Amino acid sequence: MLSPSVEDYIKAIYKARSDKGTITTQDLADRLGVSAPAVSKMMRRLTELRLISHAPYQAVELTEAGEKMALEIIRHHRLLELYLVRAMGFTWDNVHEEAERLEHHISEEFEDRIDKLLGHPTACPHGDPIPTRAGAIARSSNRSLAVQREPERLMVQRVSDEDAALLRHFKSLGVIPGTAVEFVRQEPFEGPLVLRIGGRLVRITPQAAREVFVDPVSREDSRS
Ligand SMILES: [Zn+2]
Ligand SMILES: [Zn+2]
Repeated sequence: MLSPSVEDYIKAIYKARSDKGTITTQDLADRLGVSAPAVSKMMRRLTELRLISHAPYQAVELTEAGEKMALEIIRHHRLLELYLVRAMGFTWDNVHEEAERLEHHISEEFEDRIDKLLGHPTACPHGDPIPTRAGAIARSSNRSLAVQREPERLMVQRVSDEDAALLRHFKSLGVIPGTAVEFVRQEPFEGPLVLRIGGRLVRITPQAAREVFVDPVSREDSRS
């Protein structure tokens, strides 16, 4: 793999912050598959470029310019994923890698044309919100299915898109963004979670459930 670019770092910082609230050098090293010293070096560069603010012993924050760059690249990524699925016949488990490469190379005009062609979509195939051209982004659920304990009707809002085998597994279970599921119970001793999806019972391991993010159905209803 080529060494991660400025854009990759900015996107990783943005995502780490929205997943976990804060970011450490080690988080970034893990996410990008590089050493901690390499991250530290890039942090200095990103600070010089005024894309982040990073005071010693303080959390890394994106500046306004950094945030804008992150949302731009995320917009490219998510539009490209949807384009690959809808227009080119890719399946949802093999568009993430492709979009990771293409996102750095498309022009603003290309982006606008894809957006128009797809009818100004609001989410990628995995349920992640697509930022607007102006840089607004809808809230997305951080509530993992894995922490569910009580019976409840839930809406699958998004799933993690990085593991192709896991995406194929979700598809086979029917765990797809926009699908209503009923959490029935978790089997004893940290066993699988039992869901009812379209009248049939489905079991999902706690490990897979960690990559599924849900909303209560009531909130989903009032929003639409
Ligand atoms: Zn992706
Ligand atoms: Zn996606």
